[in-house]
Amino acid sequence: MNKLIQTSLSLILTLYCSAEILKKPTSYSSDLYKEIILNGSYDPSIDHPNEFLDFNYGERVASPEQIENAINTYKQQSNKIKVLNYAISHEGRPLHALIISSPENIAQIDVIKENLSSLSDARITNDREAKKIIDSLPAIAWMAYSIHGNETSGSDAALGLIYHLIASNDSEVENLLDNMIVIVDPVMNPDGRSRFTKSLEQYRGTAPNYDDQSLIHTGDWPYGRTNHYYFDLNRDWIYLTQPETQGRVSLINEWKPQILVDAHEMGAQDTFMTGPAREPINKNMDRDLVKWGNVFAQDQGSEFDRRNWRFYTGEWHEDLYPGYSFYVNFRGTLGILYEQSRMAEDGVRRPEGTVQSYKESVHHQFVSSLTNLNTLLNNSKAMYSDYWEARKLNISNESEWANQTFVILPTKNSSRINTLANKLKSQNIEIFSNKKSIYVKNVEKQTGDIIEEFNIPAGSMIIPNRQPEAPLISAILEFDAEIDEDVLKKEREATLRDGSSIMYDTTAFNFTMMYGLEAVTVPENIKGNLSLWEPSSVKIDVDNEAIMWIVDGTDDLSVSFAARLMEQNVQVRIVDKDISLSGKNLSRGSPVVITLDNPENSNLVQLIKNTAKDLNVSVSSLYTGFGPEELPDWGGRHFRLLNKPQIAILSHEGFSSYDVGVSWWSLDHHLGIRHSQLNTSMIGYADLRRYNTLVMPSGYRSLNQGEMSVLKEWVKQGGTLIANNGSTRMLVSDNSITSIKDVSDSFENSHEYNIKLQREFLSKNISIDLDHVNNNKVTSDISYPWEETENRIDSDTLKKRDKWQSLFMPSGAFVSGRIDDKHWLTFGIIDTLPLLYSNFPVLMASSDSKAVIRVGELINDANQDIYKTINWSDIPAGNDLNIRMSGLVWPEASARIANSAYLTQERYGKGQIILFSGEPNFRGSSLGTNRLWLNSVVYGSGLGTSSRITP
Ligand SMILES: [Zn+2]
Repeated sequence: MNKLIQTSLSLILTLYCSAEILKKPTSYSSDLYKEIILNGSYDPSIDHPNEFLDFNYGERVASPEQIENAINTYKQQSNKIKVLNYAISHEGRPLHALIISSPENIAQIDVIKENLSSLSDARITNDREAKKIIDSLPAIAWMAYSIHGNETSGSDAALGLIYHLIASNDSEVENLLDNMIVIVDPVMNPDGRSRFTKSLEQYRGTAPNYDDQSLIHTGDWPYGRTNHYYFDLNRDWIYLTQPETQGRVSLINEWKPQILVDAHEMGAQDTFMTGPAREPINKNMDRDLVKWGNVFAQDQGSEFDRRNWRFYTGEWHEDLYPGYSFYVNFRGTLGILYEQSRMAEDGVRRPEGTVQSYKESVHHQFVSSLTNLNTLLNNSKAMYSDYWEARKLNISNESEWANQTFVILPTKNSSRINTLANKLKSQNIEIFSNKKSIYVKNVEKQTGDIIEEFNIPAGSMIIPNRQPEAPLISAILEFDAEIDEDVLKKEREATLRDGSSIMYDTTAFNFTMMYGLEAVTVPENIKGNLSLWEPSSVKIDVDNEAIMWIVDGTDDLSVSFAARLMEQNVQVRIVDKDISLSGKNLSRGSPVVITLDNPENSNLVQLIKNTAKDLNVSVSSLYTGFGPEELPDWGGRHFRLLNKPQIAILSHEGFSSYDVGVSWWSLDHHLGIRHSQLNTSMIGYADLRRYNTLVMPSGYRSLNQGEMSVLKEWVKQGGTLIANNGSTRMLVSDNSITSIKDVSDSFENSHEYNIKLQREFLSKNISIDLDHVNNNKVTSDISYPWEETENRIDSDTLKKRDKWQSLFMPSGAFVSGRIDDKHWLTFGIIDTLPLLYSNFPVLMASSDSKAVIRVGELINDANQDIYKTINWSDIPAGNDLNIRMSGLVWPEASARIANSAYLTQERYGKGQIILFSGEPNFRGSSLGTNRLWLNSVVYGSGLGTSSRITP
């Protein structure tokens, strides 16, 4: 059939069907709001947005493709626009920044950017030059929309704004573009928006729907907020894990805009929020920006008043976490947040009986944008002057950051420290290294302890903070963000009154603790004998003549190396102790490929080489299996055979989409090996024998009895079940698959848990009195750890205390983890591992299980001359326990979680259960705990279950 006939036939069919099968609605949402958003006088040679839509502009949600079409047309039709593609999303959609200005300014882009760079570095620019630059510079605004894909009105407003700016004949608009560069970032999360527009399509009926509970408004799991891997892109601005953020941040940092508008939506029954944040505000932020924030909010508020639109400022909007779009505030850009109540489509019925239309919500965003641009136009020069003063302060010896140097200690974990270096460089942070050790005084450890004299070892990463980006450096590297006493009072009041919180995000976030890297802060500006930091060189030494090839187990990439080779059916072993072979010292956890294990594989050497090249990881060739003295040899039990992981992630409704997404992303990003995501409702009848490793991300879903028995049978037969946070809570309270308990269910047996803990403590601190041991007489002179303490607490009191303490659980703070350094799960992990801790299940490990990581760093303290009792546990005399590392951890919470397990492992039948109290892969950025999870997923099946011999 020819195409024309086909099209007209389908048109006739559609008309016929809609007339016959579906009834017309009694009213249309397009009748709700009569104001016209684009009501100026426009150049007819530029296409109106309606040309790209199958509805009238503003009445419904434009898809990313429709907006993309408009952009591609506008760049042909107008000389006031230059389009940059700054990233490609995971699903292959381009992200655009549209530079809109007068043609004269657009022709000058390179000069303008060069001037901005000079104005940002007071080491190469003086006051006179700065004044000249400020006089010549246009204002610069970055207008960004709908980073959360289901908060749609922003991007629709952006489409109108682009058209308005390039097509308006209004002299006010022309004047604006003569004096300003407006950069519009119209669709910040095209994959999320696409997911949501698809669901709008799928749930749309004939009549408009104003019920904000209906599926057309909510969408389906995993919802439209996040990107392809279910990441919240508005938490990623410092950690930079996603392509959308990586591309965007590098462009923003190039442009150094004066304002950055970040347009969101919030609850449907709300109104509109803008304006500067309330406390807590991160102390590193330039307070001038708060002043300017008020100026913008006032103008915007007046415009809303004039139009009789409701709004508010502040309230729940705080700014302690530096990973929002507001990271720009640490670089001298004013971040402005819009939160429009969310209409999804059609509109939403409110308690007072009115319906607010979607079109009006688009109009709010549009008017806010234009109002902010005009405020910027009027204040740009004064804002540049403030900016210049701040840039001068950042490099002076008078700033609060001037005598502060961050030092990351040398590590064999090359890939992880390289990742850190890349993140810092993306923010224009200058990083150095030392060839010789440097003697310094009064350095602060991550635990807060001060070391009076310290030698910074050669090869450390050194970041002196007398640099142009000093405030940002401090915000993301300081160990503990300061929180005012007043804020703490309000927080405690909220907690005590009704269990609520005034903190909107995590209260701890610094890079070195997130990354599980050891670091110190030095209270001076280190500058002598430093060279620019260089990544350590990769050496891929894969010799045909060797008998085995090995990658050092400290490097995270060693796990990827093992996983990728096993996927290609190579037999891989892992050394579970430090070794020295062929003159090379390698850490425990080093994966090794031995020719003898792979007799049939003629392509072995090439596979190893290619894998190492793909990963860019160093490999060594070994020629002997003899380890000197007591060190392991290759035929002994320390060369343990791994088992190819066959992984499934339980997913869908009932699981945290964030934790599902980040588990999925971790496998794709760190390992790149095959795995399946399963719809959990299938678990009762799916063939689980295809997998030997099941991941249960954090969830709220209880498994029914049938599902639980399937899972139990699967573990019994040799499966490795790995659960996080909410799912751990569920398995623990189910009480049939694990002996681990939540602390609140453990008080009847607290003595047993304490004994297990004392065995761990005592095994680490053995001293032998030979006379006593060799005495042939029976003796009553035996010390029992539980008799050392006088103040054991009865179970009733423990129960009451626990209930009280549980009110004060943290919401995203670092506590110290002490590791079992002989367990395979801790390969590549530092001794005191920062754990990002929230209201997690507090795990109690029985004697049938391993507490692989416990909460609290045990430190020597001669003043503690008796056992110290904290709830159920005792701390041996001569010791104390450090819990809090960073962020808000109330003392009640510290006491509650002290000595509890963060990570447990126990055998069940031929298989095993691995429980994380928390979410080890948080935001794709908690690389310290992520390594534990990677170990569990890749090595679990080989090291923690009975080995299987396939006939
Ligand atoms: Zn949002």
